Amino acid sequence: LVSKDFKKESTVLDIKGIKIGGKHIAVMAGPCSVEGRDMLFYIAERVYRAGARILRGGAFKPRTSPYAFQGLGEEGLKYLREAADSFGMLVVTELMDPRDIDLILKYTDIVQIGARNMQNFRLLKEVGKAKVPVLLKRGLSATIKEFLMAAEYIASEGNNDIILCERGIRSFDTETRNILDLSAIPVIKSMSHLPVIADPSHGTGRADCILPMAQAAIAAGADGLIVEVHHCPEEALSDGDQSILPDDFDLLMKRVKIIAATL
Ligand code: PEP
Ligand code: MN
Repeated sequence: LVSKDFKKESTVLDIKGIKIGGKHIAVMAGPCSVEGRDMLFYIAERVYRAGARILRGGAFKPRTSPYAFQGLGEEGLKYLREAADSFGMLVVTELMDPRDIDLILKYTDIVQIGARNMQNFRLLKEVGKAKVPVLLKRGLSATIKEFLMAAEYIASEGNNDIILCERGIRSFDTETRNILDLSAIPVIKSMSHLPVIADPSHGTGRADCILPMAQAAIAAGADGLIVEVHHCPEEALSDGDQSILPDDFDLLMKRVKIIAATL
């Protein structure tokens, strides 16, 4: 169902009037984790003014250590909805456990399935049944075929509103957190009609790599980006090293618009 053999034309999602896919570049931005109401409103306003129309933020966080900040849960979801509504944005947030699906659906427009859960087939089937747009991130060491088969699990339950996200894969090199696989963008686009976005934040783990990789991803044909933005990255409760300042996000959006216009 997700292959180009099944459907030739590119899928364009229309979520409350915001389009993703085709010629529509969608930018999702916000903090890695929702840390509080004030910070979220500040960041939401800044990314909205720069041109982002989808607010990202984790309320349930998949952390490597069980002692690290795990997210604010429902309180975080409420802040996301409130902040997005006050600027006319959509919300994208991660679902980690099928038991939280009803709760998440009360607050979000797009459900994110994180890299660590890309092959959590039970979770994929649940979001497939839910008829909610899904942002599916590539697994930490998933092949493109495995990634597309994970999307197929969602589609096979009747949900075709899927956005694929290249977010970097494991490699031997420790200079970056992951290797953002830019070649995956044209390759996936040759195989599937679904929109593909890139995550230069998790894809590199380095704030100084976000702007160049965002530009490169759009040039490579990505239908959008998901970017971590924080007003004070040194104090972020998660992923500060890969979060950019709102001023740097302004520049990123300007560059992205210029590149997209030349394609
Ligand atoms: C995130 O978007 O905050 C996240 C945890 O991403 P990933 O699943 O790609 O690591
Ligand atoms: Mn993160």
